[in-house]
Formats: sequence, structure tokens, C-alpha cells
Amino acid sequence: MESIRNLYKIGHGPSSSHTMAPQKAALMFKEENKNATSFRVTLYGSLAATGKGHMTDVAITNTLLPYPTEIIWQPEIVLPYHTNGMKFEAIADEQPIKEWIVYSIGGGDLSDGNSKVNKEKLYDKNTMKQILQWCHETGKTFWEYVEDTEGKEIYNYLLEVWRTMVAAIHRGIDAEGLLPGGLGLQRKASMYSIKAKGYQGSMKSRALIYSYALAVSEENASGNVIVTAPTCGSSGTLPSVLYHLKVNHDFSDQKIVRALATAALIGNIVKTNASVSGAEVGCQGEVGVACAMAAGAACQLFGGSPQQIEYAAEMGLEHHLGLTCDPVCGLVQVPCIERNAFAAARALDSCSFAMLSDGKHLINFDKVVRTMQQTGHDLPSLYKETSMGGLAINLD
Ligand code: SF4
Repeated sequence: MESIRNLYKIGHGPSSSHTMAPQKAALMFKEENKNATSFRVTLYGSLAATGKGHMTDVAITNTLLPYPTEIIWQPEIVLPYHTNGMKFEAIADEQPIKEWIVYSIGGGDLSDGNSKVNKEKLYDKNTMKQILQWCHETGKTFWEYVEDTEGKEIYNYLLEVWRTMVAAIHRGIDAEGLLPGGLGLQRKASMYSIKAKGYQGSMKSRALIYSYALAVSEENASGNVIVTAPTCGSSGTLPSVLYHLKVNHDFSDQKIVRALATAALIGNIVKTNASVSGAEVGCQGEVGVACAMAAGAACQLFGGSPQQIEYAAEMGLEHHLGLTCDPVCGLVQVPCIERNAFAAARALDSCSFAMLSDGKHLINFDKVVRTMQQTGHDLPSLYKETSMGGLAINLD
């Protein structure tokens, strides 16, 4: 597995696959073709089908400035390696001088069709089973595996991640008005936060969790700065759970960044053995994985054993199996924003369920990751970020 820095990417929303990765590819291509006078970029498959709503063209053309860029949309052509394909062409004297086919494979990562671009393997274990075995042999737990592998310097980065998440919550709670994109959707986080103050007990707690998740997801939908966890579309779930626990239980920043380390390890296992791309496996790979990460992190904060943490993460993902990706108008708004709020609540339920158990259960995390991957591949492409099925076509 690679560094958890690649899982938590700090950047602008609304989509890690549709904006962050194409932006990164455009920057790399521009750097390598300094003699080009213009560029042509062809977008294929799901990237073309929902690219306009996700502002993929804007992300690419802005990155390639000051050179003019022609964007060609080919939603009906799906390249064999991955549905989110891009062809970059550098032009000089009206002739193509260089061509590069690259794929946006989820969470802001790129692949050239054989292997991940800039992938650097860091961890010596790839599965939950191997990590649990290590925990058993050493008497340590998940965050210690991260610390032993990446060094204590990782905490500086995780602190930056945490501060970015909190800033997004604060901005989102303060913001009001319409979200961009033309759906006529009002932001909800602020209203939920205000109404929460009028309630007591579990209703208040639920309202606050929802408001934090809505805040981050609305910031993402507005193209503001968030952290992928594991993607932009699912960036609201983990911050919501951690912020709620920090405020209510006074956990130190040190404990929060250790929880972030464990959450990232959970997300990394899925990235390595399956996918966190909605275009590849549906929303189970985005919000489902975010829920698993948040459930495991919460369980650690409450003192869960490695087995209980694994159980919490397993339930967070298991109960999102089959979840489709059908964003209305290709915008990361409906169902994405509310879905993050529900996943945050479900993550806390998964944590409670695991804490009440002794950690024993039938379906382990690795099995549910494998099932998620198979289910995702069996889903028709209508339900994988093409906006050609599901809610995306049932708006009236
Ligand atoms: S439905 Fe889920 S996977 Fe699809 S764009 Fe929204 S958050 Fe991402």
C-alpha cells in the first residue's frame, strides 16, 4: 500500500475523479510539453458523461492556460482500462506533437493503463488480515502500524488534514444561499446547526452530526477546499464524525490524528484491493468506504480493540453494498450531500454495534472489500457515475 498522504488529498472540490485528477494530469502534460502552442483533450466514458456537471473542462482548461485548449466529449466511447479515460494532445504548428492517454481511477489518482502514476509502495501489508496479525504479534494497534511505517512526521500532515477539515465545517456552517450548478438547491448545514440548538439528547446529537457532514459536502459542491476521505464526493462523513466526537468528548488533537491514521489505513486497504471510484464500483466505494473509515476511527477513539475496529469498519462498508452512483445532472449534490450525513450517523451506529460485541463476526473486512469490488463490476454502467440511470433520470 502507498502512503496515506495519497488518500487524504487537500484541494478544491467537487470531484476527485473529475476535477483533481484531470487537473493533475493537465499540469503534468503541460510541464512535459513546453513547446506546445495549444492543447486538445478528449474525455471518454463516465468522465465525458458527467464532466460538464463536475466542471472537468474548466479544471483542465484553467490548468493549461495561457494556451488555448479544445475539449472533445466522447461519453459513448469507453476505453478498455477504465471508464474515466482522457487523451491529452499537445499541438504545435497545427500538428499534434505528443499524445498521452491517462485514466482518472478514483480519489484523485491517475493511471497510465498499466500502473498508477507516481505510485510508491510504502506499507508491507495490503490486507486487513495481515494487519490484524501484525497487531496480534506486536500488541500494537492500527495507528501504530501507520506510525512505524511512515514515521512520526506523518502527524504534521495529519494535523494539516484535520485543520482543513475543521475549517470546511466552520465555513459550511456559516454559509447560506444556493449551491452552484442550477438545481436550485439551498445549503442546509447552517439551518440544521441552528435547529440543533433547540433540541436535547439524541435528536440534538443527530442534528449536529448531520450539520457537520452537510457543511463539508456543501463546501465541496461549491468547489471550495476540502480533504478527500476517500474522495471529494464522500468528504463530509469522516470530518463530521471526528468533529462531533471531539466536541462532545473533548478528545485531544493527538487522539484525533491517530484516529485519522487508522481511518486512512482502512481506506487504503480498499484502494489497494478494490476501488474508491464511483465510476468503477458505484457509491459503495465512495460513501460506503467513508462510512467504514469513520466507523473504525470512532471505535478506536472509544477504546475499541483491533478486532472491534475491524468489525466497525466492516459493518460500515457491508451495509452500503450495492449502493449506486447516480448524481442528478452530474453534480456532486443529489444524492451525494445528504448521503454523507446519513453515512456519518451510520458510522456511529457501526461503532456502537462493534463496541457492544467481543469483536467476533462471520464476514471479515477483506471479504466485504472483495464483495464490494465484485458487486461494483456487476453493476450496469448506468449506475456508475454516468448519470444515465437511477435518480439522475427520475427527477420529474
Ligand atoms: S453518488 Fe456517491 S459516488 Fe456518485 S458522485 Fe455522489 S458521492 Fe460520488
